[in-house]
Amino acid sequence: MNTSAPLLGEPPPVELMNTIWADRDGVHDALSTEAEAMAWVRAIGPRLAPEHTAPGRQWSDDQRPGDIGKTAGELRVLRDALRRLAAESTRDPRQGWTSPVSRNAAVDAINQACATAPTWSELRWAEDSEPDRCLRSAEPPWGAAVSLLAERAVEMFTSDTRSQLRACLAPGCVLYFVRAHSRREWCSAGCGNRARVARHYQRHHPDNALA
Ligand SMILES: [Zn+2]
Repeated sequence: MNTSAPLLGEPPPVELMNTIWADRDGVHDALSTEAEAMAWVRAIGPRLAPEHTAPGRQWSDDQRPGDIGKTAGELRVLRDALRRLAAESTRDPRQGWTSPVSRNAAVDAINQACATAPTWSELRWAEDSEPDRCLRSAEPPWGAAVSLLAERAVEMFTSDTRSQLRACLAPGCVLYFVRAHSRREWCSAGCGNRARVARHYQRHHPDNALA
């Protein structure tokens, strides 16, 4: 199964925010089942610790991890917290989806996620071979994914990236993106096109808002 989330090449915490996405049928949650959460972590896993090989290997394992239900819940809690703080950072005016958590609960949830399954490096270096850096955690790798995402989120909110975070204001879109260059206005080319069509429509039908 592939994740239904629109992976846009954003930093992993923004990709997690975007597991809430919308189309003509309404708002969707790409983490609403264990299978969906597993598909999303498998898709994003290699980007969480690109220098480390060990977790990636385990995330792409075909075995169904026993703790995926717990991880799915933790990912949703972290996602809702990130969206709460992103809404505040971007002064998000959109009505499509509102995070159910308060600001303080969001900060607490991120800190709790950081501590879920902290990771550390392990040097593997057999004689006459190249050294390998592996990522270790006392918890199963799925929990480590939650902590790695939370760590990246703390980095993002405390760095310049926070000021580049944007809510996509195309009609009906609920996604966030990092405005990597000054001319970027939308999360994707598709949203740019829909926004242009909507503007064109409004110009020619000023009395009717485009649904
Ligand atoms: Zn968009």
